[in-house]
Amino acid sequence: MAIDLSSFPYLVPQDETGRCYDGYLMIGKNEFRVKLTVPLSNLSETEIICEWKLQEIIDEYMPIIRQRLVHCKDLNTFLKEVISIVESKIKYEESPDVTCNLTSHIVSEIEKIGWHKLVAIDTSFHSVTLKSLDSQQREHLLNIKLNSQCINAAPVTTTYLPCKSLFHWNKEDGLVNLFNEFESTLKNYEEFWDEMEEIDTCTWVLEPEKPTYAAVHRRIAIGTNASVQITVDPKQPKVFPECVFLGADQIINPLKENLNQNLYRWDISRHLLVNLETVLDIKFPSPTNSKKEDFSVECGICYCYRLEQFTPDIVCDDKRCGQPFHRICLYEWLRTLPSTRQSFNTIYGECPFCNKSITVKMPLS
Ligand SMILES: [Zn+2]
Ligand SMILES: [Zn+2]
Repeated sequence: MAIDLSSFPYLVPQDETGRCYDGYLMIGKNEFRVKLTVPLSNLSETEIICEWKLQEIIDEYMPIIRQRLVHCKDLNTFLKEVISIVESKIKYEESPDVTCNLTSHIVSEIEKIGWHKLVAIDTSFHSVTLKSLDSQQREHLLNIKLNSQCINAAPVTTTYLPCKSLFHWNKEDGLVNLFNEFESTLKNYEEFWDEMEEIDTCTWVLEPEKPTYAAVHRRIAIGTNASVQITVDPKQPKVFPECVFLGADQIINPLKENLNQNLYRWDISRHLLVNLETVLDIKFPSPTNSKKEDFSVECGICYCYRLEQFTPDIVCDDKRCGQPFHRICLYEWLRTLPSTRQSFNTIYGECPFCNKSITVKMPLS
């Protein structure tokens, strides 16, 4: 917690606790008299007493300084950040150029947006992360990387949305407008996120492991060796999604039949999950009645569940065996055996576990 005095040679500790300092901070060509008192528990309540000129600058940037204190692990890092903020302000007063102008411009814009929406800002004021809560209190982050040379140039924005979105940029109120556009774009996808959230909480989603707000796919566990991957249209999330089944034929084929027979029962006024269960005529296993490990059974050859981006997608058709394999593992295994036959791109062999016949298509390279 104590300050590394080699970086701040003009600060003198006032006692042995390492929490009180008196002395000078060198900022640019200026030196400022300061007194620092660090509380025992909370760095963000650090008290800075200083001469009025420095105090004036610090007060102006107080919300940012407080925000930094929360994120800084130690006082050293924090002091360096305060110095860089003050430095850019002093430089601006001496010769207002574009870079420094940017700083005060951004501060006033964030003020308009609201400090409580600021998640992070870097020392050079070029990367700003803002947050917005949607009507279900889901937190959405927007990172804005400003062009350091010119505030008129459109910044690069990063966020998780299911469709590509372009935010417009104008030089006055640039950040404010951009953030407003971001918030109104979020409204377009609330229904989509509602539907996906229901699936994520009421079923076992095997893929993606941690879905972002941009993810439109979900692979949902149906049984030990069976799952369905759905691709949802974010603009019409209640419409029948694209479905791909993975798993042993004896489990998957009846589901495909159910789907064909029941598709007419799909009702877009109802939720996605209810509709899926209706047309497949099943109840998805859920966290209330099962464990996720039951559905992520490892490959019988490499004994892993995940192999790069792949999960086991070939399953032995024998009911008593039902062993899953990665396609690539099974293919490599079978093609070394003399009993294996190959016809075009399909390999016919025996399950390494139960010796029943098993086929695998050549993996796409
Ligand atoms: Zn494997
Ligand atoms: Zn088998």
